[in-house]
Order: sequence, then C-alpha cells, then structure tokens
Amino acid sequence: MDSGGNSLPSGADGVKRKVSYFYDPEVGNYYYGQGHPMKPHRIRMTHALLAHYGLLQHMQVLKPFPARDRDLCRFHADDYVSFLRSITPETQQDQLRQLKRFNVGEDCPVFDGLYSFCQTYAGGSVGGSVKLNHGLCDIAVNWAGGLHHAKKCEASGFCYVNDIVLAILELLKKHERVLYVDIDIHHGDGVEEAFYTTDRVMTVSFHKFGDYFPGTGDVRDIGYGKGKYYSLNVPLDDGIDDESYHCLFKPIIGKVMEVFRPGAVVLQCGADSLSGDRLGCFNLSIKGHAECVRFMRSFNVPLLLLGGGGYTIRNVARCWCYETGVALGVEVDDKMPQHEYYEYFGPDYTLHVAPSNMENKNSRQLLDDIRAMLLENLSKLQHAPSVQFQERPPDTELPEADEDQDDGDKRWDGHSDMEVDDERKPLSSRVKREVELEPKDLEGQKGNEENARDFNTVADEMLEELRSALDIFDVPVDEPSVKIEQENVYKPAN
Ligand SMILES: [Zn+2]
Repeated sequence: MDSGGNSLPSGADGVKRKVSYFYDPEVGNYYYGQGHPMKPHRIRMTHALLAHYGLLQHMQVLKPFPARDRDLCRFHADDYVSFLRSITPETQQDQLRQLKRFNVGEDCPVFDGLYSFCQTYAGGSVGGSVKLNHGLCDIAVNWAGGLHHAKKCEASGFCYVNDIVLAILELLKKHERVLYVDIDIHHGDGVEEAFYTTDRVMTVSFHKFGDYFPGTGDVRDIGYGKGKYYSLNVPLDDGIDDESYHCLFKPIIGKVMEVFRPGAVVLQCGADSLSGDRLGCFNLSIKGHAECVRFMRSFNVPLLLLGGGGYTIRNVARCWCYETGVALGVEVDDKMPQHEYYEYFGPDYTLHVAPSNMENKNSRQLLDDIRAMLLENLSKLQHAPSVQFQERPPDTELPEADEDQDDGDKRWDGHSDMEVDDERKPLSSRVKREVELEPKDLEGQKGNEENARDFNTVADEMLEELRSALDIFDVPVDEPSVKIEQENVYKPAN
C-alpha cells in the first residue's frame, strides 16, 4: 500500500533544502504554572540540542516578529484578543465572567506574559508562511507553534491563539490550495473547524479517538458544503506503533498529495504521539514520528513545520531536534553532545529511545477498514465535479523580506483573500457529525411525521447558521445535505 513519496515532481530525497528556523530566546521563560504539563521550556531545550549538534549553522535562524492585534484578529474575535491582551494574574479575579466566556483559567491558565507568549508563537508561524510565500526558503520551522485547539473566540487544550490557522491564511494569499497534516495525538479540531466549509484547505488529522480530548475527529466527519471531502480524520487507538501508523499515513497522504495537489503544506508535529508521553498513549519511536516529516518533505512542496503537544519534555526536545535534522537532510548522531540540559537525558544520553512493549490495540482489520474508508472518500474528491480548481487570485503585494537580517521578516501586511470576517457568525459546532437527509433517511421517518417536522426545523436553523458561517469563504450553500451538531465536550485528562 505504500504509495511512495514522489507523486509530485521532486528532487532526490537527499537534496538539501533551504530551511528558515524561527526561535525567540525568551520563549523558554513562559511558565503555565506549577504542575501544568505544558512547558515552553521544551522549546529552549530543543534549541540547545540544535545548537550543540551544530544544526543552527545549516539554517537561517530568525527571531519572529511578535504578531500584532490585527494579525491575530484575522482569525480571532476582537473582544477575545482584547481580553488576552489585558488579562493578568493580578486582575483575573475581577474578570470571572470573561474567563469563563473565553474558557481561560483552568487548562488554559492566565500567566505572566501570556499575551506576548501568544504573539511570539503566532509570529513565528506567520513569519514562516511569509518566508515560504516569498520563496526565501523551502522549509520553515517554528517549534513554538502548532497550538491547534484554539478557537475563534475561545482558548482550549493549552492553546490560546491558533497560529496554524493564521499561518494557513497567510499561505492562502499565494497558494490556491493548502494542505494541513496533524500528527499530534489529539485531534486538530481548531484548524479543522476553521476550514471545514472550504475546498481550499484540506485538513488531515491522525489522532487517538474515543474518550479522549477533545472528543472530535470521527472518521465520518468529512467537511461540509464546498468543504465536503476536504476534512479527513484518522481515528486511532492506544499503543499504535511505527509500522501500523505508516500503513495509514503513507497511502493516505500519498493519495492526498496526488488528488489535492497543494501549493504548500503545514505539518503539525505534536510530540505527544511519541511512546512514553506524559499525556499520550501511542507508541511511536522518534524515527517513526520523524518519518512523517521525511515523507512530507519528499514531495518537495513548500513546507511549514510546527510543534504542538508533547509533555515528556526530554523526548519532545529529542524529537524536534531529530526532525530539524530531517528537514535539513542531515542524519544526527545518536550520541548526545554535552550541553546545558544534558542531565535531562540520562542514563543513556542518546537521541533515540526505544518504544515500550505496550499492547497495540489497533488491529490489522481496523487499520485496513479505516484506510479503505478514507481512500474511498478521497476517490470521491477526485471524481467530484466540484473539483474544478479555480484560477489563482493575484498575489497580495507584500514588503520584501530581507534575508540577511536576523530579526525575522518585515511585517506581513495586506489582506488575505480569505480573511475571516468578524461580523459574521462562527461555525459554532464542537462536533460536526454529518447527517445527510437523503430520501432513504426521510423514508424511515414516514411513520413519525412529528419527529420529521422537528428534525427539519432544526435542520433549517442549522442551515441558516451554516449559511452565515459559510459567508466567510463566499461559499454558497446549495447542497441538499444537512448537518446536525452534537454537544460532546471532553476535558483533557490532566
Ligand atoms: Zn496534543
């Protein structure tokens, strides 16, 4: 089933790529609070490894421009951004209503410098997109980014602003189609929701599904309206190993690259899918995880690599260091160099760690079924008459970025041709289970006209809400299918 990594014109895999790496030396100082599993210090540990392995000298190292309010407001609601800017640990007691409204306080605590932390990690991701758009690098890396759970008006799962959505909006200025791939153990719900109704962004998430945060990401959630078949969900169970993972990842992503033909790819490399993660339950090795990077890179399409989850921080640093090497086409030594965080990596002081002997609950049959179902959906996309890719709109004029400056990019500016309009209603669903009102479904309701009428009323209201949500992409709702939502809110296990 391995469909290979070369369905697009591509150089030999060993060919060097030009890599821009975004890092702010302050990022390791942000602190979510005692006992909180999310530790920005892991980004600093990763950077130290890169420095001592001698990898920094092979790439352009850039300090990101902090994202401004207006940059964040391209996706997020104005009042949510204002709230994030103004809230402090000292004032939060006076803002209980707002905290609840924006889901800030527990999993997503208020801490010192919260807003500048958001500006920094979002600035790196958008800056990466700007570099790629200008053709100044082949691969851009921002390990501080990848916070895929944040919603338009709400923090979620340790994420406050969704740097991925912002980075994709930036890429859409240049590229007609952008692919988003998410290998974090959690479903990439915030990114999926943002692009659920458009055919310009395909989202593909591989995640643990079933009684696990955030609860979304059913294999039957496939997108809506113009976006139907442009959301892909790969639900997995505990203990998945490298071989099982790649018997899905490679054929599915290979097919996606063939039929969707993206102009740019964003890969969220959440490291909580590694074996031994504090919050995770998968059994991937670092090489298995990094194989996703190697495979994505082999298509030779502009690539933005982002971080994400990852809560056994010594393994996160190992993983993202190794994956930076993969991006550069450099195989790094297993023996770790001496550096300031060396003691974290005992007793072996090696880059790689053996996966565990935990049970792999993903049976061969289950994997085969999931793969068949997803390839079937992709074949519908391939043959759907709606796949008449429109002409690319003209590029937005952007200021030239200066490659030689060590201060990141010049300000990105101008409007995306896919800007999210804050006046419009968000797609408010948490769980989007598509239920089509096809004739055969209505048939079954004949005996109960009352129920059918209620259902249709709900469906009409849903359609109305979707219409206004869909306006953000200027997508007419002309599909006969109707979707209902189900409330299904899980909290993180921690
Ligand atoms: Zn995660």
